[in-house]
Amino acid sequence: MISENVETKTPYGKPSGIIRVGELCGERVAFLPRHGEDHTIPPHKVPYKANLSALKSIGVRHVIATCVVGSLRKEIRPGAFVVPDQFINFTWGRDDTYRVDRQLVHLQMAESYCEHVRNIISREIKAMNVNYRIKGTVVVIQGPRFSTVAESKMFALWGGDIVNMTQYPECFFARELGICYGVVATVTDYDVGVPSLISMRTESVDAVLKVFHRNTKATLSLIQRLASASKEITDCVCATNRIAEYYKLANIDSS
Ligand SMILES: [Zn+2]
Repeated sequence: MISENVETKTPYGKPSGIIRVGELCGERVAFLPRHGEDHTIPPHKVPYKANLSALKSIGVRHVIATCVVGSLRKEIRPGAFVVPDQFINFTWGRDDTYRVDRQLVHLQMAESYCEHVRNIISREIKAMNVNYRIKGTVVVIQGPRFSTVAESKMFALWGGDIVNMTQYPECFFARELGICYGVVATVTDYDVGVPSLISMRTESVDAVLKVFHRNTKATLSLIQRLASASKEITDCVCATNRIAEYYKLANIDSS
């Protein structure tokens, strides 16, 4: 149950909204609406840097993000949940590092998401009566426009499974801050490049919303299961090793 509103300031500006902090299944949880209270912040304007910094400042150690995606493959049907394990960044011009000037650090991103969080999401989602895929590559586009047919076909040829506008740089900021980050993606429709299904892409916003609302209940149920399982993540590489060295170099408090 949500019990407290927390207003935060960060060196990178205000986050998308007030953070709601409370208890869920015996665990302390925080909720931050990525697109703002009224869903008015478009993907390319989301203050990703401030959002992750704000969550870090109140002690958040694990982030389970939700997002909606389009499918680049026939077999990934609208209504399915996908737990991506890789991303391809196709955004441009977004501020995407906390790195300070003249301190060159290259962070590992071979595994794009926290494997502990992914494993727990995958385990819990398997126990639910839903369609799911526990692997997938998400192509992150700049937005706010959707892809052209040529772009969409190219993304599929690259190995992309789903397409989205918010996964980058959100997941990378989490990595820089030593936060374990995973995502549950809801497939709302097919992207325009999926052969013979092009008409479905532009069918209607109503059709997309219908799928989204149908999956919302399942998503909330999944979040509850994940909250009670989060205690299982006690020691993760996300917060150690090379990242700790980075903080030492950058003189940033990562505790
Ligand atoms: Zn982790």
